Amino acid sequence: MTQQNQSVVLVKRPVGDATPDCFELQASQLEPLAAGEIRVAVEYISVDAGTRTMLQGEGFHRQVALGGVVLAGGVGRVIESQAEGFSVGQAVRGPLGAQTIATLKPDFLEVVDDAYGELSVHLGLLGGSTGITAWIGMHAVAKVSPGDVFVVSAAAGAVGCVAGQIAKQAGARVIGIAGGSRKTTYLVDTLGFDAAIDYKGSDVSERLKALAPEGIDVFFDNVGGEILDAVLDQLALRAKVVICGAVSQYGHMNRVEGPSMYLRLAERQASMEGFAYFHFPELIPVAKEALAEALKAGNIVMPEEILPGIERYPEALSFMFRGGNLGKLMVRV
Ligand code: NAP
Repeated sequence: MTQQNQSVVLVKRPVGDATPDCFELQASQLEPLAAGEIRVAVEYISVDAGTRTMLQGEGFHRQVALGGVVLAGGVGRVIESQAEGFSVGQAVRGPLGAQTIATLKPDFLEVVDDAYGELSVHLGLLGGSTGITAWIGMHAVAKVSPGDVFVVSAAAGAVGCVAGQIAKQAGARVIGIAGGSRKTTYLVDTLGFDAAIDYKGSDVSERLKALAPEGIDVFFDNVGGEILDAVLDQLALRAKVVICGAVSQYGHMNRVEGPSMYLRLAERQASMEGFAYFHFPELIPVAKEALAEALKAGNIVMPEEILPGIERYPEALSFMFRGGNLGKLMVRV
């Protein structure tokens, strides 16, 4: 039987928002497998904020070529193998791309534990660009102490909600910033954050002054722009600002708006440090084990928001930049 792959291809570089007309769903026949290759039936595709930066002509991450399959992490099962160490039925995670069947050399593929039920957990809590990013950012960079006032932006997103839970467990007073009451209610009522600010429905600066009158000790920033400025203005003495990402800037990477309140760093003897999780390769297995244990013990949760159907990948990306997702956003193939 001849099998077909369906892939999401970039046909137009987005200007501003990555609207669905920038993508096309294309079908192709599968060629016979070459020596050293494997073929994976993709089950879940990760939808990541950073993907937006890969759609431009140049950027920090790898680029998606015009006419090329959108780069994306995924999990799936091996359906054919000509590579040593991989056999049919194994569950694997890696750069599978936004497509239904990936054919690739397994250099960057990892066999994952099948014992969690759905494989989606390997893109969610146990995923590199999600739970592991949050764990590394919190343990290697933020280093929260008990009693700290900790603020996280995009707090109800994949990275943010894990960062906040880790801060809470470290004894910090945790304030999340997120868009909309569905998210702020979830942060306080379900995740146990001490407070949450709806940046779409209230004045962030005023709310921060009211909730953290003595200042903010640690800020874990996923958003940048105006929210970063509002927090810089309310830093405590010797505060730390951790730059994990700046999702508010990804639609215009050629004219990123830097913080105008950065002199608060000098005035408050504060520091700002960025990180990328892959600069800490030695911590990745440590983070994975710690998160897996926390998951088994019921000490941490990662909500998953899943859109069914490969054809919905472009819509999923737009959905994320409109703030639709609570927790980890994925497409189920
Ligand atoms: P996510 O937080 O699950 O989703 C992105 C969220 O950002 C949206 O749900 C939305 O929530 C918010 N958002 C979107 N556009 C916004 C805007 N213009 N202004 C303010 N908020 C906006 O996404 P993620 O993939 O987990 O990524 C979170 C951050 O981590 C990103 O900055 C990403 O680049 C970064 N990251 C860093 C690393 C690293 O190694 N440093 C690795 C992976 C990811 P609201 O409803 O709250 O607006």
